[in-house]
Amino acid sequence: MVSSRSTSRFGISHSSGDLHTLEIIEDKSGTRRRHGLPARYQKGRFLGKGGFAKCYEVQDMDSKEIFAAKIVSKASVTKPRAHAKLRSEISIHRSLDHDKVVKFYDYFEDSEHVYIMLEVCPNQTLNEFMRRRPAKRLSEPEAMFFIYDLIVALKYLHARRVIHRDLKLGNLFLDEDMRIKVGDFGLAAQLEHDGEKKRTICGTPNYIAPEILEGKHGHSYEVDIWSLGVILYTMIIGRPPFETSDVKTTYKRIRINQYTFPDTVRISQQAKDLISCILRTDPRSRPSLDEILASSWFQTSKLPPAMPVTVSSASVSPR
Ligand code: ADP
Repeated sequence: MVSSRSTSRFGISHSSGDLHTLEIIEDKSGTRRRHGLPARYQKGRFLGKGGFAKCYEVQDMDSKEIFAAKIVSKASVTKPRAHAKLRSEISIHRSLDHDKVVKFYDYFEDSEHVYIMLEVCPNQTLNEFMRRRPAKRLSEPEAMFFIYDLIVALKYLHARRVIHRDLKLGNLFLDEDMRIKVGDFGLAAQLEHDGEKKRTICGTPNYIAPEILEGKHGHSYEVDIWSLGVILYTMIIGRPPFETSDVKTTYKRIRINQYTFPDTVRISQQAKDLISCILRTDPRSRPSLDEILASSWFQTSKLPPAMPVTVSSASVSPR
């Protein structure tokens, strides 16, 4: 939940309630705000670019606090679907408050942009982290360290009836302690009740669950479990299980559940068993989050308490 402290910290009025329109908002004096970030924020380094947004580090010059400002050009969200997606992202993300979820502080807009103020995650995402590794993969204890946090985040989200629907390495942000925080709720869905099924086709090709592609019976929380399995495989093996050079073939492989464990990478039998158990076509036969935690992979090895500091300093080069 967005605290009243965080809202008043910005001192900027923002759309209330249902977010039905994202239109120019007026400040407290009733005049329309001039273009750009309010003067008290100093724009810092560029953090990254996504499909819609550009993200910068910004500092509140009064409190000295640092935030990540996700800036979306309104010109890029003129289509009703894109507009609805942005509204939904704000509405779902602002309702969340958990240590393993990127914190949402506030949002506001001017005539040209929507600004989403987020907790800054200074060590990029697990995608960049893995790419910097010489073998482009993680050891099993490292994978377990990150997957454990992801499970904690998913337990929170699913208990709040939120399905993320776009879990992938690039949406697992790294904080200053190299712990993950789940971010980017652009494709998330808020269910009204647990039995509800969603039907929109969404996700990222390599990580998308077969029932989303099938589209017949709708989908629910199990799509996040599937993506967790794809993430675990990718961490240990170094590339996603269904990856091919074209999306159509990737989708076909997902539908027929065609993937293998290459002989060239060492992987424990427990990890193989867990991945095979998660990547089941029938969503009802996938394990729950608690069953994953109780799996022999988690139970036979000791969970590493924290990523050694040397991992972050050696692997994340300053920009
Ligand atoms: P989009 O919704 O357009 O896909 P993203 O949410 O993926 O945008 O953000 C784009 C990029 O900005 C990310 O890939 C990442 O590099 C950076 N970014 C986003 N949020 C944060 C954050 N909270 N802290 C640090 N960097 C971030």
